[in-house]
Amino acid sequence: TKTLHIIGGGLAGSEAAWQAAQRGIKVVLHEMRPVRPTDAHHTGTLAELVCSNSLRSDDAQHNAVGLMHEEMRRCGSLIMRSADEHAVPAGGALAVDRDGFATAVQSALEAHENVEIVREEITDIPGEEWDQVIIATGPLTSEPLANAIKALTDEDSLHFFDAIAPIIDKESIDFSKAWFQSRYDKGDGSDYINLGMTREQYDQFIDDLIAGDKMEFKEWEKNTPYFEACLPIEVMAERGRETLAFGPMKPVGLTNPNDPDTKLAAVVQLRQDNKLGTLYNMVGFQTKLKHGEQVRIFKTIPGLENANFARLGGIHRNTFINSPRLLNDTLKLKGRNNIRFAGQVTGCEGYVESTAVGLMAGRFATAELSDQEISTPPQVSALGGILNHITGGADALTFQPMNINFGLLPPMDVRNERGKRVKGKEKKAAVTARALKALDEWLEKTDRV
Ligand code: FAD
Repeated sequence: TKTLHIIGGGLAGSEAAWQAAQRGIKVVLHEMRPVRPTDAHHTGTLAELVCSNSLRSDDAQHNAVGLMHEEMRRCGSLIMRSADEHAVPAGGALAVDRDGFATAVQSALEAHENVEIVREEITDIPGEEWDQVIIATGPLTSEPLANAIKALTDEDSLHFFDAIAPIIDKESIDFSKAWFQSRYDKGDGSDYINLGMTREQYDQFIDDLIAGDKMEFKEWEKNTPYFEACLPIEVMAERGRETLAFGPMKPVGLTNPNDPDTKLAAVVQLRQDNKLGTLYNMVGFQTKLKHGEQVRIFKTIPGLENANFARLGGIHRNTFINSPRLLNDTLKLKGRNNIRFAGQVTGCEGYVESTAVGLMAGRFATAELSDQEISTPPQVSALGGILNHITGGADALTFQPMNINFGLLPPMDVRNERGKRVKGKEKKAAVTARALKALDEWLEKTDRV
């Protein structure tokens, strides 16, 4: 029997393995951790979340990432099933207990009769001896394999930074200053811990961030542009003194019940990080400040004077290929009959998107190994939207990592009974309904066989 080899047991690789195994394909999943660690992973568990514990919005009606969640649930996604089983409160977002989540993914794959997990680093692109291969080695693809990809594709990989936000022990937070509340009381109204700052405190904080000691760039990291959605806080502070107060620290929709009369210039929000509710992460506080500096500066935030940091922030590189140029519309490397790419290495961005691309690669390889015609998801779906973008929708010359968003779906002219064009929520609801209907039809067709 033919076998599918998947390199990398992260989010994309685990999902691809599940999709294929569930359809009767023999899968060998090659994961280098814990034999060889990466700069950002902390465990040897498959599908470890390296930073935030949030899979972002779970609103399938009005949000593109929420729509992608729902589409993947309908495709029988292991990542989504495990996330739902290990969800923690996070307003309208889907956040998870990271250990419970990753363990669930790993256990399901270990228990699957069609899956074999091999803990080894793959250092070269496999040849024709492997029937079908999916390379899903992520933003921290190990160097030998990255070099092999570079040599094979004759394409320079691009490197840039992502940054990790610190995590705090809840017990160490001073609740005579901090308070529970979601912005505008969304969700159950109290999902976040908030830390308010006066104008004076905020100004001092910005001075400290700008003056703080940062980690040195490595030689090869210099001149690398940041991914704009993941800027370190000190870089945001350097760009403008009010940037943070209008960004992750915006004080709107929040009132401190301990001190309702003091006008807040900024608010730091903490989001639950584990099921027990003992750990909270600092939302949007990715940073490349040195660890000692992080402790010193973050302890000046009201309520964190005695904070115990379970994890401090950090910086990491990101590796991705020029997919619009290199891949065909089923994620296959042009000119090679047995190699596909999936996950963040294809230039999608984010946990959910990486999983989605893994899900599709797993299904495409399955069809191929079963001698069936490959059918790609409808273009109007979120799955189709991200696939279309990375395999051709994006300009190869300016290709940069992309999150799913409504802009990646074909336009839709939505009108009310009086023939007037509708916008906002109503329009989003129509776009997501169109997506789910088309996806269901596609599943009906492709899953029947
Ligand atoms: P991964 O989940 O990283 O999986 C790749 C796997 O391949 C790893 O297990 C690795 O050990 C293995 N591997 C690598 N090379 C080899 C080899 N040669 N042989 C065998 N195995 C190998 N996205 C978000 O949505 N939210 C965030 O907060 C977020 N934070 C991030 C923080 C950092 C520091 C980084 C680097 C990325 C972050 N991302 C975030 C982006 C991205 O969505 C995640 O990295 C996501 O895990 C990507 O999924 P993946 O399956 O493509 O890669």
